[in-house]
Amino acid sequence: MNAFVIEAEKLHDNIKQIIAKAASRKIYAVIKGDGYGFGLCTYAKILVTCGINALAVTEPYEVAALREAGIDCEILMIRATAIPGEIEELLRHNAILTVGSNEDAVTINGIAGRLGTKAKVHIKIDTGMGRYGYLLNDIEKIGAVYDYMDNIEPLGIYTHLNAAFGSKKKTLAQIESFKALVAELKRRGYEAGCVHFANSSAFYRFSDMDFLDAVRIGSAFTGRIPYPCKTGLNRIGYLESEICEIRWLEKGATVGYGGAYRAKSPKKIAIIPLGYSHGFGVEKIRDTYRFRDGVRYVLQDIKRTLSGEKVYVTVNGKRARVLGHIGMLHTVVDITDLTCKVGDNVQFKVNPLYVNANVVRKYI
Ligand SMILES: *Cc1c(COP(=O)(O)O)cnc(C)c1O
Repeated sequence: MNAFVIEAEKLHDNIKQIIAKAASRKIYAVIKGDGYGFGLCTYAKILVTCGINALAVTEPYEVAALREAGIDCEILMIRATAIPGEIEELLRHNAILTVGSNEDAVTINGIAGRLGTKAKVHIKIDTGMGRYGYLLNDIEKIGAVYDYMDNIEPLGIYTHLNAAFGSKKKTLAQIESFKALVAELKRRGYEAGCVHFANSSAFYRFSDMDFLDAVRIGSAFTGRIPYPCKTGLNRIGYLESEICEIRWLEKGATVGYGGAYRAKSPKKIAIIPLGYSHGFGVEKIRDTYRFRDGVRYVLQDIKRTLSGEKVYVTVNGKRARVLGHIGMLHTVVDITDLTCKVGDNVQFKVNPLYVNANVVRKYI
């Protein structure tokens, strides 16, 4: 059966390493996108059991599912929303909301009042991400949340870095402007509460920086952070399937759509019932926003073409080359030089984020 396999011991080790590195700071374990592909509730339970006591998600239904699964720790909603139905659901499930504008604040304040509760929120500052948040010169508007919204209790303030994996200069400028805004709020007598800005890349890249009160860590738990550096973390998760057919190809026979692979000599092949619909060979589209992104992609493609880069899977612990294009539900590999039989295990390297939610998550 196809499964996405997660090595629990390695995960425990990553969690332990991250908790130690955060020292006494609070950690928000970000588990958006079905827990980065690790399965929302199972993954959340492991995090909590290993000592994490605050989670962060982007969807109200995630909060509902976590509460239903019996997880009663702090949950921060890191997406702002002015949609009344979403706000009500979040308040009912005792989530901490994000306020990124006075429109958000007024709506949340009204609904909390109607429900007879006080909404706990973190204030979001936009330092370049351009999605949610007050701008750096919105200090008067932010003050209004503290001054006039009786049903809102601000417990923290944060920003999201847009290039912690890339431009150091841009990132440091964002951090500085965010810190300056928080200092000004404090100078005006407002209680900033829990102040945070670091994602995984910032956390590992600027290790000697003062991360203030909390860090928001997502990808690092899976052992794959966007900023290229040695973290000492375990890379976790792979897709697993089994050989369903074995056969021989004659010289000149083709494999897959378009007949892209043609056998130059007789080949023994294995068919595996797993393809891109499960998440193998799937990549995010390369959105070419700037001219230089386009140039970089072209250079990457030329390099890849010239080096004849091939795709491999692991059959019984041995490398086997993928032949032809990966199919929606099938992959064909060359096993001419391998010893294997129908039912044998095959492992695929994948980005967990792209593993289809229908694929069973198997913790080992
Ligand atoms: C996804 C996300 C994070 C975590 O980012 P990683 O790089 O995966 O650690 C932190 N904060 C916000 C607001 C996010 O959306």
